[in-house]
Amino acid sequence: MTSTIDPKSIGRPARPHRHARTLTGYFPEKDASGKDKWPRGDEKAWKDGQRSVDKDVKSVTRNFVGHVQTSLARQAYNLDDFGAYQAAALSTRDDLLVNWNNTQLTYTRKSPKRAYYLSLEFLMGRTLDNALLNLGLKETFSDGVQRLGFNMEDILEQERDAALGNGGLGRLAACYLDSSASQELPVWGYGLRYKYGIFQQFISTDGEQLEAPDPWLDNQNPWELPRLDVIYDVRFYGHADRLNDGTPRALWQGGQEVLAVAYDVMIPGYSTATTNNLRLWESKPKRGFDLNSFNAGNYEGAVEASNSAQAITSVLYPNDHTYVVLFGKELRLKQQYFWTAASLADIIRRFKNLGKSMQEFPDYVAIQLNDTHPTLAIPELMRILIDDEDLRWDNAWGIVTNTFFYTNHTVLPEALEKWPVPLMEHVLPRHMQIIYDIVLDFLLAVEKKFPGDRERLARMSLIEEGVPKQVRMAHLACIGSRKVNGVAELHSELVQTTILKDFVEFEGIGKFGNVTNGITPRRWLDQCNPELSTLITNTLKLKKSVWLKDLTKLEGLLPFAEDKVFRAKWAAIKQRNKERLAHYVQTTLGLTIRTDAMFDVQIKRIHEYKRQSLNILGVIHRYFTLKKMTAAEKAKVNRRVVFFAGKAAPAYYIAKLTIRLIVNVARIINADPDTKEYLQLYFLPDYSVSLAEVLIPASDISQHISTAGTEASGTSNMKFCLNGGLLLGTVDGANIEIAEEVGENNVFFFGHLTPAVEDLRYQHLYHPVPIEEKCPALAEVINQVSTGAFGDGGVYEPLLNTIRQSDYYLLTDDFDSYIAALDMVDEAYLDKEEWVKKSIRTTAKMGKFSSDRAINEYAESYWNIEPTSVPPEGY
Ligand SMILES: *Cc1c(COP(=O)(O)O)cnc(C)c1O
Repeated sequence: MTSTIDPKSIGRPARPHRHARTLTGYFPEKDASGKDKWPRGDEKAWKDGQRSVDKDVKSVTRNFVGHVQTSLARQAYNLDDFGAYQAAALSTRDDLLVNWNNTQLTYTRKSPKRAYYLSLEFLMGRTLDNALLNLGLKETFSDGVQRLGFNMEDILEQERDAALGNGGLGRLAACYLDSSASQELPVWGYGLRYKYGIFQQFISTDGEQLEAPDPWLDNQNPWELPRLDVIYDVRFYGHADRLNDGTPRALWQGGQEVLAVAYDVMIPGYSTATTNNLRLWESKPKRGFDLNSFNAGNYEGAVEASNSAQAITSVLYPNDHTYVVLFGKELRLKQQYFWTAASLADIIRRFKNLGKSMQEFPDYVAIQLNDTHPTLAIPELMRILIDDEDLRWDNAWGIVTNTFFYTNHTVLPEALEKWPVPLMEHVLPRHMQIIYDIVLDFLLAVEKKFPGDRERLARMSLIEEGVPKQVRMAHLACIGSRKVNGVAELHSELVQTTILKDFVEFEGIGKFGNVTNGITPRRWLDQCNPELSTLITNTLKLKKSVWLKDLTKLEGLLPFAEDKVFRAKWAAIKQRNKERLAHYVQTTLGLTIRTDAMFDVQIKRIHEYKRQSLNILGVIHRYFTLKKMTAAEKAKVNRRVVFFAGKAAPAYYIAKLTIRLIVNVARIINADPDTKEYLQLYFLPDYSVSLAEVLIPASDISQHISTAGTEASGTSNMKFCLNGGLLLGTVDGANIEIAEEVGENNVFFFGHLTPAVEDLRYQHLYHPVPIEEKCPALAEVINQVSTGAFGDGGVYEPLLNTIRQSDYYLLTDDFDSYIAALDMVDEAYLDKEEWVKKSIRTTAKMGKFSSDRAINEYAESYWNIEPTSVPPEGY
């Protein structure tokens, strides 16, 4: 299948015009006494929440112009928006660096226990706006660039997203870094510096997803510092020989050696001098190229080793909750080891500078494993303690199991990571030996507690029998950690009663817990919805820095739900956010959206368990219902604009078909004169953090409709509700806790509950009922798609068959209650005043979902670390 790229289909404006212009106000006017006249005096330097260096408009613009002339080597009369962004970023970075240095110095001096967050993904989005907010320089800076003839919003738009993640897991890591720094906690992140982030998504005219690489570093990255002095060797392959000298030691030699080079990314806390570090590793060849081949004129051979080393950190694997396509992927295994080995070497070096004995390691270091991706850190720390530090096995295992903490992110069986034993033996021979030793000890202990229970041993083993045998990473992460947690109450419960049930019985429930996810209110309210933030600040009569750091303060909004004037202001902001989104779609896609309608949004990775298919089939149902209505009937319906956005893993065929269906349904219904006034549908390409920041504040209702028990938590549900969008969802993940907080009457729930799911699936397989009987409304919709109402029906058969056949995600069971819930949403929306009350009450009760709360739970209940304040500069 070949398709052409519709140039309009990319939702990210290519830097369009480069209007170079002169910096106005570069030469300030003089006042009567001959001194420079600036719009604001130095007395305005300190804003709410700011305790940085003495900053005013004058010094900000000076620094900015300095970077234009020196770092960028450009003239003050010849600068475009992109140049202005670069200068803005570089001068902001100067401020970050001062705090960053102070913070690291403080940590070195005070040597507190530190926590390290190991995540293969950090979905950071843009940095400039966040850095200025956190530094307390946003207004000053904005004034400064305006004086120079630039507009802050245009400058911010020039920045490319740092998209080193797939979805929720990577964004969670980014929110946790923001909260750690804001709470003054000594936490560093460790990840990989991918040359290419998550692919750019294009949509062809016939609805096919096309992928292009994301060369995010092409514009240079002002937010990172290469640390050419922080370098470690990492080995792969070779052979491991046990010494058999009465110790468990072995010698691992030969194979390939590559270098890990550190790049540091500054993570400023909000309204504090604390600026933590995110250290990302880049792979480099240890020896440039093979001289023998080079001299023989074999240039390809000469660069091969170099290419093989560089490949390790080239690309982010584009999979979210699906490992099928990863099975046996050697490069992915090498990424995981490269990253954990470099990170541990760095952590140990820092620990050794304290001059403590290895026994005290867990008193100074806590390491959080974000999903099973960094689980190799467990055998790697064992290797170091045994082979390099010469510790006894039990002693080493004691240190390991007091250092690590494991967060599980999914109970979907296909998403549980496993590595084939032969591949592990080939790439990491020493680690495979260690894993076998761990297995032996572990199974002996299980056998002791449950004598003769062979099935239990097989279920619990770290090695799954089969051809090939596989290492179960979740089991290794579990037994190698001090605590194991899920990411929402229901999910943690499921972890304990399903995939790790045997481990709860063996190790006791005390080891297992829950930390419900959170989101940072700095980015997901103040930055993305500045008008709402200002209204909240004025209404609560609190400083912004107070409620943004204690989000439960939002409860103070509750009484204002009864205030008509306040409600009008609240609704007007939602309306302006819709217009902002409409403007974005107009300028990027050339499409005109009506804004006098309910905005209904589902944005997240495209996956069967998230059930975008349920949503699109619901839209089709609504379309045909409208088609059958008289004009008088239609006049009473609620106008709806439905938005989808999200990427499908490139090899995930059914997910890509779902996108195709959405795009083709949109093409038909947006052009239908009978209905287009009442129903519009858009698929916005290339979902990203920055796109989410425009969509979320504009939403009236958002959909989180996973099959019960499949969405571990979800975090976009929290973002929408924080911005006063109501939630339509299943009783799943954090939806449940959101409803507990905001009140069930303010959310729209539907669908079967988790305990029913297993039974329903069994029925589908062994007592199937034809869809026509079970759910005639859905049968009709499927029939329309199949017979070509939205283009060649045959194309969609594989997608439709997943529903007609085993229907693993229960669309046939939930469709009717889904449609009923949509009708309830319509009815509720028609009562505008009541709807706005619900919206206000929802925002008011979202305090629990701040990532500040979540990170404090990790710090107190898991890591045992404490806030360590950094004196502001000048002390
Ligand atoms: C928050 C966020 C997600 C997670 O969304 P869910 O609906 O919770 O899966 C994914 N991608 C981006 C860009 C996000 O900002």
